[in-house]
Amino acid sequence: MEAARLHAYTDDMENGLSIDEIDRPEPEQSDHVVVEVQGAGWCQTDNHIIEGLWTDYVEQTLPMTLGHENAGEIVEVGDEVKTVSVGDTVICHPVMTCGQCRQCRLGEDMYCENVQFPGLTTDGGFAEYLLTSERSVIPLPDGVDPVEIAPHADAGITAYHAVKKATRVLNPGDHAVVIGVGGLGHIGLQCLDAMSAAEITALDVKEEARDLADSLGAHHTVDPTTEDVATVIGDITDGAGAEQVIDFVGRDETTAYAPDIVAPGGDHHIVGYGGHIHEPSQSLVNGEFSYRGTLVGRYTELQELVTLVERGDVSLRTSRYDLGDINTVAEKLEHGEIEGRAVITPP
Ligand SMILES: [Zn+2]
Ligand SMILES: [Zn+2]
Repeated sequence: MEAARLHAYTDDMENGLSIDEIDRPEPEQSDHVVVEVQGAGWCQTDNHIIEGLWTDYVEQTLPMTLGHENAGEIVEVGDEVKTVSVGDTVICHPVMTCGQCRQCRLGEDMYCENVQFPGLTTDGGFAEYLLTSERSVIPLPDGVDPVEIAPHADAGITAYHAVKKATRVLNPGDHAVVIGVGGLGHIGLQCLDAMSAAEITALDVKEEARDLADSLGAHHTVDPTTEDVATVIGDITDGAGAEQVIDFVGRDETTAYAPDIVAPGGDHHIVGYGGHIHEPSQSLVNGEFSYRGTLVGRYTELQELVTLVERGDVSLRTSRYDLGDINTVAEKLEHGEIEGRAVITPP
């Protein structure tokens, strides 16, 4: 089968991956399933993997097939698989978990002590077929297109996970700020709108992104290139600040907003990454706000998100590309030229 594989870390996105002919995966354990990939979302994390940014955090053996936002049809199952069968259309939670460790039993799929992460630590879905496990797949309701929903496997679930944490403490009339209305941000904004009665402000440097935010439920939009973010948020919130800030950018400039815009006791959720946090410890003491990390989400949260998609509360902007165009996609994303989310459709 054809697969887009990383052979060496590089900053040159134009030649990041190569299309190789490799063996089709087969179930190696009784709970494995093989999925014929119909859609695999391209993610900023794929750019970061190619750059070698993950080598300090996880073990990777190259060459490796990337692609961790996968959906498609089950074509083969291990001997003991009971809950899904050949022919089912599924979205794949991005990690394969053991189900036995304490974290799995707590429902914390991402903390599984024996986790495998196709596309990050083992072969992923930028290929004709993907190996994953029964515990990772969620059957799709009729009428939900696997190509359209694929990016929710990571982009969507990650945005949803941060928003769910935020909405647990957002009361009607509280303020929420969404920083960055791109691939993840535009999903997060819709989840926030569907799940809370907070007043929502969206920040983005691009006019089209602010227009999109407007149409997706933001009550206010801010252009950080021409407006002073702290002043505007201060005006919108009568000086109180925003109880919850969800940062889909995660650069030095955006993490630096927190001391000025987060309400006392509030949270600045870090979803996008690549920058650093350099604020004085005193600012966290004075404001008693927190920076909170976001690592994908639980299997059950992906089920909940599928429900929001089926209800029509969350829709994705996607554009489709052939497997052979994968480096073009990487290059385009690097330059901010992808609208919404790019989905690779293997042959
Ligand atoms: Zn991703
Ligand atoms: Zn586990």
